[in-house]
Amino acid sequence: MTSTTTMEKPVEAPSSFYPSLVALEDAVRRDLEILDYPSKRWMRPQERPDGAHVHDVIVIGGGHCGLTAAFALMRERIANILVLDENPVGYEGPWQTYARMPDLRTRKAVTGMELGFSNLTFRAYYEAREGLAAYGELKRISCDEWTGYLIWLRRVLSLPVQNESRVEKITPDGNIFRLDVVHGDRRQTLLARRIVLAWGPLAMGGPYVPDIIRNGLPSTAWRHVYDNFESETFKGKRLIVIGAGASAFDNAGTALEIGAAEVNLLVRRPHIPRLSLIRATDTAGFLGTYADLDDQQRIALMSEVQRNPSPPTIRSLNRVEKWPNFHIHFSAPLVSARMEGAEVVVQTQQGEVRGDEVLLATGFAFSLQKCAPIEGFAGQIACWGDRYSAADGVVPERYRNVPYLGRNYQFTEKTPGAAPFLKHIYDFNQSATLSMGPTGRVSGLKYGVRRLMQGVAGSFMQEDFTRQLALIRDYNDSELDGHPWVEKPTVAK
Ligand SMILES: Cc1cc2nc3c(=O)[nH]c(=O)nc-3n(C[C@H](O)[C@H](O)[C@H](O)COP(=O)(O)OP(=O)(O)OC[C@H]3O[C@@H](n4cnc5c(N)ncnc54)[C@H](O)[C@@H]3O)c2cc1C
Repeated sequence: MTSTTTMEKPVEAPSSFYPSLVALEDAVRRDLEILDYPSKRWMRPQERPDGAHVHDVIVIGGGHCGLTAAFALMRERIANILVLDENPVGYEGPWQTYARMPDLRTRKAVTGMELGFSNLTFRAYYEAREGLAAYGELKRISCDEWTGYLIWLRRVLSLPVQNESRVEKITPDGNIFRLDVVHGDRRQTLLARRIVLAWGPLAMGGPYVPDIIRNGLPSTAWRHVYDNFESETFKGKRLIVIGAGASAFDNAGTALEIGAAEVNLLVRRPHIPRLSLIRATDTAGFLGTYADLDDQQRIALMSEVQRNPSPPTIRSLNRVEKWPNFHIHFSAPLVSARMEGAEVVVQTQQGEVRGDEVLLATGFAFSLQKCAPIEGFAGQIACWGDRYSAADGVVPERYRNVPYLGRNYQFTEKTPGAAPFLKHIYDFNQSATLSMGPTGRVSGLKYGVRRLMQGVAGSFMQEDFTRQLALIRDYNDSELDGHPWVEKPTVAK
């Protein structure tokens, strides 16, 4: 996703506008202070001969996963960190750009980002702004409210986020990483000991474009719903939307409301799937323990969860069905696509559909090899196809190239010993789902971030073991000093 600087920035009203939000922020500060134990510093800055600063952790991506990771690390006193996001403030993630939906699919009671501090929940934030009754009446969290909440969290927690900073390349360099970053109109090189890839679902490959469309139509005749464009461009157009997931209907609804002349939506299946199976995973048992299951169990569970794509919400269906210029075509997989003059002609198994433009709602294509910042070492990352050794079968094709992660989100090596730096990169995004359980969605956050944080802290303890040992061996602080019954300190204080 490229930056959206041309758009008006979502503005969060200052806290003083809402006296109860000011009170909530005071309560948050008090909570954080009360639960501040142990507050002692245990990490030491790394010295570089050239004096360059080395961050302990750089988190790439300032969406809800990146912000939560940063908060969790800071609570564990790993505070020498930085979050980078390519977008301007308020435009991180899909909410103000390519989501094109009025509200979140997640239920309003969802928690995760607050790390157990009830005053940091969406509910506390919303009640402080709008009142208790308003929260009771709220059906769904709108994208604007979610954006406002993320901006508020980031501010109230003083999370170190640098916006408009795109990481172009990650290079292992001894026991640290070098990151080539484009920040506004200048280039930066940043150094870090650990990397958290909280860069969302699109970074690992990008939107999926079927070959029939790519080969059959000029690039001016189609776009993907995950591309960055103004919805106004739908006005007056005859659109052919391909896909049957939530994004297909959200985009069709947006187009119709904006004044599209006609929308034809092509669905490969004979029906829209009834069940959003991912919802069945929203249990403490599944989310909390999935990552500890063996390989066969994880494949079995995830194959069941993903046996059909997530359907649209009932609100998305209601949004489009009332329009007379909306037509849905079932059992209509693509056969071919061509131009006839300025007109797009898409041939399906049910016949021909004509329009001005194709809008693809075909999800994203996961590919480590197409992920530019890690191109240099993507081939060294172990995937499920390299590791899975089911006695009674082979790994399903669609899982073969999905990264096979360690139990704390870290990459693992395809050839043991060949790329030890990989264990210091944490893959905290949708591509972790098969290894770790639902990742990226808000509902899995609370369990995922705990594992991530323990993994990062544990790896620092291992790497710095000699220094940690020395810290205890050289500990020299006693309130008993000077008392006649007490031994004399061996080293002067
Ligand atoms: C249309 C849509 C609707 C969704 N609705 C819901 C929902 O209602 N509820 C739910 O739980 N989940 C939903 N999801 C799934 C998931 O929660 C979202 O994808 C969510 O945004 C994931 O959060 P994140 O922090 O992992 O990534 P993102 O929110 O995508 O944030 C990642 C950020 O990293 C930035 N980035 C990427 N590469 C780089 C780079 N190289 N350098 C710097 N920055 C970079 C991205 O631009 C982005 O700002 C939805 C997903 C989509 C696509």
